[in-house]
Amino acid sequence: MATPGGTLLINSLFAPEKLWDELPREIQQRIIDLKLKVYTIDAYDVARRAGMGGRVNTVMQTCFFALAAIFPREEAIGYIKRQIKKTYSAKGEDVVNRNYAVVDDALAHLHQVEVPAEARSEIYLPPIVSAKAPDFVKRVTAVMLSGKGDALPVSAFPVDGTWPTATAKWEKRNLALEIPQWHPVVCTQCNKCVLACPHAAIRAKVYPPELTKGAPPTFQWDEFKGKYFQGSVYTLQVAPEDCTGCRLCVEVCPSRDKLNPRQKAIEMVPQGPLRAPERDNYEYFLELPESDRSKLPLNVMGTQFFEPLFEYSGACNGCGETPYVKLLTQLFGDRAMIANATGCSSIYGGNLPTTPYTANREGRGPVWSNSLFEDNAEFGLGFRLAVDQHARQAQELLSVLGADVGDALVRELLGAPQQGEAALSAQRARVAMLREKLKSSFRPEARRLELLADYLVRKSVWIVGGDGWAYDIGYGGLDHVLASGRDVNVLVMDTEVYSNTGGQQSKATPTGAAAKFAAAGKSIAKKDLGLLAMSYGSVYVGQVAFGASDAQTVKTFTEAEAYPGTSLIIAYSHCIAHGYDMAYGAAQQQLAVDTGYWPLYRYDPRHAGPGKSPLHVDSMPSIGKVIDFCRNETRFRMVEQQDPMRFRDLMHLLQHKSEERRALYEHMARPVTPVQPAPRAADPAAAAPASRQPASAVQPGQVTQ
Ligand code: SF4
Ligand code: SF4
Ligand code: SF4
Repeated sequence: MATPGGTLLINSLFAPEKLWDELPREIQQRIIDLKLKVYTIDAYDVARRAGMGGRVNTVMQTCFFALAAIFPREEAIGYIKRQIKKTYSAKGEDVVNRNYAVVDDALAHLHQVEVPAEARSEIYLPPIVSAKAPDFVKRVTAVMLSGKGDALPVSAFPVDGTWPTATAKWEKRNLALEIPQWHPVVCTQCNKCVLACPHAAIRAKVYPPELTKGAPPTFQWDEFKGKYFQGSVYTLQVAPEDCTGCRLCVEVCPSRDKLNPRQKAIEMVPQGPLRAPERDNYEYFLELPESDRSKLPLNVMGTQFFEPLFEYSGACNGCGETPYVKLLTQLFGDRAMIANATGCSSIYGGNLPTTPYTANREGRGPVWSNSLFEDNAEFGLGFRLAVDQHARQAQELLSVLGADVGDALVRELLGAPQQGEAALSAQRARVAMLREKLKSSFRPEARRLELLADYLVRKSVWIVGGDGWAYDIGYGGLDHVLASGRDVNVLVMDTEVYSNTGGQQSKATPTGAAAKFAAAGKSIAKKDLGLLAMSYGSVYVGQVAFGASDAQTVKTFTEAEAYPGTSLIIAYSHCIAHGYDMAYGAAQQQLAVDTGYWPLYRYDPRHAGPGKSPLHVDSMPSIGKVIDFCRNETRFRMVEQQDPMRFRDLMHLLQHKSEERRALYEHMARPVTPVQPAPRAADPAAAAPASRQPASAVQPGQVTQ
């Protein structure tokens, strides 16, 4: 709330002489009433020209001190520059100089705006949320979004501690200066951009051509080029007000116009002129039917037609974690039950005032809850135990109610295999039929079964978190769960640092990277979490990096979930804490894999046996050196800047460790030579004590107590 006679600084793309006319009338009137002095700067332009991307904090800080007159202007600028040197000198001279340039340029582009005596704008402030929003969003969420949440009475909140999902879609943040524009002729419809988008803001649908009748004038489609759904059409659509402008989708797009190779199938264009028409297009797109999941192949193209049930989260622009969470909800959707450890994923996953987890058209979506760093694995295991118990009760009730619902249906419900989309959809149909039949039964067991019937559809339990949880604070519990043999899936999104709490090192931080508590560069090796899990012989383990191989990522997720025991996926997640433009996150992941820094593999205990190996290394032997990967990231460059000799030694160690690990994995991936059983000892006394004899092989899915 500005005080009368105060100063208002606006970061705007509009030229100073045009800015006033672009302000909504309510804002103009407020400025006039309060007699504010108005200044403007295009901070994004200043930052971009200095090679700072979208980081405008130094620009805005400089303008603030120049206008606030807390110190004489020259003195204030001197303080800022000294602070820049102190803050960024560890990141290199280049970063310091770019920040200095930004300070000087900011002052040159700061302009005062003339304030007329009357407000005459034809533009008016839009409502905080759309009139189509549900009642709770209008009564509670919108109040919080407008910054007046403290005025809400306690009675406005749900009494049972739950919080409505599917609310992020009403918070139109309009963050992006530029959004992707689609060129259907160039597009091969691979859907790679859809998978990579961290914010579910670019989506694809395939649908009958007659549904294009009545589409808005600028809505685009093209003949579907895939093998499935012959005669259908395809649309790739951006959500203009939810896109953050991170550019990751454009960077992963492999298709270029043959006649003009600079032209990709999507390219970034200014959001302003497209906002209104693309908003209409997106609304039309959302109304188009979803594809039949059971008819789509489980590859990148096919799965990216699945509706995401995690959308528009508040994660950083271009976040490397959220594509995995989104994929999880696309693949396992309303069957997913997610136990989320504290960390970035619990913040962007369960933030206020809006929630990115959402529901499908039937109103079903993932179950989500957050627990502590130190007990999340056990928390998720509790989900499994509860689900199994409920399913058992439902099965017992079914047996009791055979005469009421029909023996054939009971047999089918109890014997359904429930692997694959078609089988799951058949089981859902049976549960719907069961519910119909239960309506005509007056037995108390029927009422109880109505409450539990959904547990007859196989649930998919996921234990999710970052490396701070999995490698460090929650490791004891995670190890306990991995050893349990229970059917839970663990997803570790590895940013190799405590991202959310400010960049402290974790046991996942690699040799040579700087982090808090490892300012000179970490000198010991990253823990090999996958190898520890493989040592049980009963855990499915996959290591993935979607930017290097989205196909291997999708395969690993589907295999892990189908595995009837414990599974662990370790997912490389680029992060702002690594210190480079997130638009290149996928390219950097590719480099991590190509240089041997991050091998891709799948360890499936079902493939163990004579002449086979459960481990399959999916990535090729390295090309290049890990230093080629490291030098692109500030977290490593800081170490080189401080002490080049130490950096060289640490890189040498990292290279050695990477090669050693690759050699070990390749050795483990060789077919196992059958071990001949030792001849039985004639003298029982010569036999080894029972406690030292090898345990019999643990079978996949076997429950150990
Ligand atoms: S620019 Fe970023 S947020 Fe926008 S559609 Fe592309 S990947 Fe998604
Ligand atoms: S990545 Fe490129 S070619 Fe593939 S669907 Fe997206 S725009 Fe089309
Ligand atoms: S800090 Fe890193 S992991 Fe966390 S939201 Fe930002 S980019 Fe994603």
